Amino acid sequence: MNSPLPADCFLNTILYMHLLKNLKERLKCAGLFLQELFFPAFCEGCGETGSCLCESCLRQKICIRKAQQCHVCKKIILRGLIHSECKSKTSLSGVFIAVDYSKFIENYIGDIKYEFYYKMIDDLIPLFQKAFKENDTFHRVVSNSIFTFVPLHSKRKRWRGFNQSELLAKKLSVVWKVECKGVLARKRKTKSQVGLNRKERLENLKGAFEVKDSQTVRLLNGQSMIIVDDVMTSGGTLEECALVLKRAGVRNVYGLVVARG
Ligand SMILES: [Zn+2]
Ligand SMILES: [Zn+2]
Repeated sequence: MNSPLPADCFLNTILYMHLLKNLKERLKCAGLFLQELFFPAFCEGCGETGSCLCESCLRQKICIRKAQQCHVCKKIILRGLIHSECKSKTSLSGVFIAVDYSKFIENYIGDIKYEFYYKMIDDLIPLFQKAFKENDTFHRVVSNSIFTFVPLHSKRKRWRGFNQSELLAKKLSVVWKVECKGVLARKRKTKSQVGLNRKERLENLKGAFEVKDSQTVRLLNGQSMIIVDDVMTSGGTLEECALVLKRAGVRNVYGLVVARG
């Protein structure tokens, strides 16, 4: 029997890869259809089906931030993002916050993280669009920056199945047509931040992150970056990530979060 020619093998491999890709896409579509059928989205606020956050709850239960605050002293700031006297206390050039913190938003984010309902992230996107629609500083910073996100430890990501900050960053980068790159990694597993005071939180996060590899470090030199995260509490996570990025050569690092607790 004749052995197949190398060209035939090559064509067969291409065909096989194509079929596999096609099958994967079909399974994904079928999966999404079944998910819609058996687990339809319902509003977190009123229970109405259709989306995780209906128009009326968005208006009534969520307060879009009218003014930004300096992330160091937490005072409202009307021009720029940070007071000049606060600059020496932080590695971040500023933090953009989409909505006011509330029990509702805390529960909403909690359900994404602990009920594994990642589809709820989609309904956060309009909040960001509304919050920054007329914010010139935000648009100036975004148009010159690359988006990134707070990484999860690989074990935690496997357990949850997704990283909520990564999904949020990717979706937001599509909205504002900017690049999104995962450049940070967790060096070690940290304790949960829940229940720790500010000092303990900062201590817990020290040395927890690193830049993925030396190739990434070269890419970062002189860039401006925005780290996306869900809720900012003490600010320790964003500070630690910003410190690592700045050491790797990033010029300016900003934060972009849903709310600040
Ligand atoms: Zn509702
Ligand atoms: Zn300040």
